Amino acid sequence: MTVSEKRLRQAIDTLKESGVRITPQRHAVLEYLLTSMVHPTADEIYKALESKFPNMSVATVYNNLRVLREVGLVRELTYGDASSRFDCNTTEHYHIICNECGKIVDFQYPSLHEVESLAEQVTGFNVSHHRLEIYGTCDDCKHVATAKH
Ligand SMILES: [Zn+2]
Ligand SMILES: [Zn+2]
Repeated sequence: MTVSEKRLRQAIDTLKESGVRITPQRHAVLEYLLTSMVHPTADEIYKALESKFPNMSVATVYNNLRVLREVGLVRELTYGDASSRFDCNTTEHYHIICNECGKIVDFQYPSLHEVESLAEQVTGFNVSHHRLEIYGTCDDCKHVATAKH
């Protein structure tokens, strides 16, 4: 069994335990998220699965993503007015984002708990979580840029 097959099986167990019905579409959305390991928008997921489920709408994809988020299998990353991206890596990690193509890549870094407690102390907030994003040019886009010159 590959890592993504294992993660898919675990995710399905989580759904079953939460009493969530596993429809073929829900299964496909989950499988896409787990095997692609990118951070797609709902639209990208829709486009990837369109041919497999001709009757599926973008609203169905959103609805499935909401269910998956509620059971904690998917995290939604919001970016102001731009479409949300969905992340099925629910372990603690940070993101680096390409300025050129918008690709989001995961990387591990010790969680910055100190920042959270400091923020709490100086502002009196109850901190729930934090998001740290690093920006730059990805390897693919770097090569495109050099090829142009
Ligand atoms: Zn890029
Ligand atoms: Zn991620």
